[in-house]
Amino acid sequence: MKAILKDKPGEGLVMKEVPEPTNPAPDEVIVKIKRVSICGTDVHIYKWDEWSASRIKPPMIIGHEFAGTVVEKGDMVEGLEVGDYVAAESHIFCGHCYQCRTGRAHICQNLKILGVDVDGAYAEYIKVPARILWKVSPEIDPEYASVMEPFGNAIHTVTVEDLTGKTVLITGAGPIGVMGIQVARAEGASLIVVSEVKPYRIELAKKNGADVVINPMERDLVEEIMKLTGGEGVDAFFEMSGNTNALRQGLEALTPGGFASILGVYPGEAVTLDINNLVTFKGIKLYGITGRKIFETWRIADQLLKSKRVDLSKVVTHVFPFEDWMKGFELMIKGESGKVVLKVSD
Ligand code: NAD
Ligand code: ZN
Repeated sequence: MKAILKDKPGEGLVMKEVPEPTNPAPDEVIVKIKRVSICGTDVHIYKWDEWSASRIKPPMIIGHEFAGTVVEKGDMVEGLEVGDYVAAESHIFCGHCYQCRTGRAHICQNLKILGVDVDGAYAEYIKVPARILWKVSPEIDPEYASVMEPFGNAIHTVTVEDLTGKTVLITGAGPIGVMGIQVARAEGASLIVVSEVKPYRIELAKKNGADVVINPMERDLVEEIMKLTGGEGVDAFFEMSGNTNALRQGLEALTPGGFASILGVYPGEAVTLDINNLVTFKGIKLYGITGRKIFETWRIADQLLKSKRVDLSKVVTHVFPFEDWMKGFELMIKGESGKVVLKVSD
């Protein structure tokens, strides 16, 4: 089969022929891939940054956002049949550690990530443990099913508290930030302000329903938010840029007693924050967000897509044939896209 691999340490990826996965273990299934979608993590692996160099052990098939059809299953697999339409939780949880046993499998102590620690989904077939699969409602197109994993990040970040009638700031209008706009709207937010620096993504935020989009390089974000909220600040802040300035601005723009969810990952050094003035004396709540709640978030994702309360046609901006994967990576590297999806099979 064709697959995209990091075949050796260093920048770049290659598409080449590799053996198809066979012989699923009793708890495994083999999925024929319909679509894979490109994640920022894949771009980090492409570039071979410090994190990838320390984590990835080539040769490795990368990719972890996909949708496909079950074609073979192990003897012990229940609740899934050949022919089922599925997407996958990329966090392969062990199922027996303290966190897994207490309903927090997304922070499993023995977590392995698909396409990072084990072979991933940029391939025609993938073999995975059945427990990570989610049966997708048939009404959801495969383009959008392949994006349910990052969509779940947006849902997990935005739904930590009730948003009915609340004012919201989202920093960063990457694919996850713009999905966050739609989720915040579906959850009843009254005002959604987005900060973003790249022109393409400013437009993307508007298309996805942001009330106001501010470029913090051109205008003072905190001042503008105070004007928009009658000097109160926003009730909720969702950090989805991975930029430390955005994190500080968001905490400043938050109303005392408000809450913030941090999804962004800050490369390089540890972040320095004025905890006294930005957190403690403001009495805010800070939520760290990783992955998706397994499988509560997936249920919400499926329902929001099935009911069309969220429209991912405004998020998935490009679909390329599998062979044209490099075009997709180029757009992602430039930041001139929303989600980029590759079509592997019909
Ligand atoms: P992305 O890099 O595509 O989007 C980030 C956006 O933030 C970009 O459009 C960028 O232009 C914008 N930005 C940069 N500096 C900014 C600033 N100062 N103010 C406002 N916007 C700014 O990333 P994504 O795929 O949408 O993911 C969002 C973040 O979430 C990233 O940091 C990513 O690493 C992280 N992430 C975390 C998890 C998790 O489980 N915690 C999972 C997936 C992604
Ligand atoms: Zn576990």
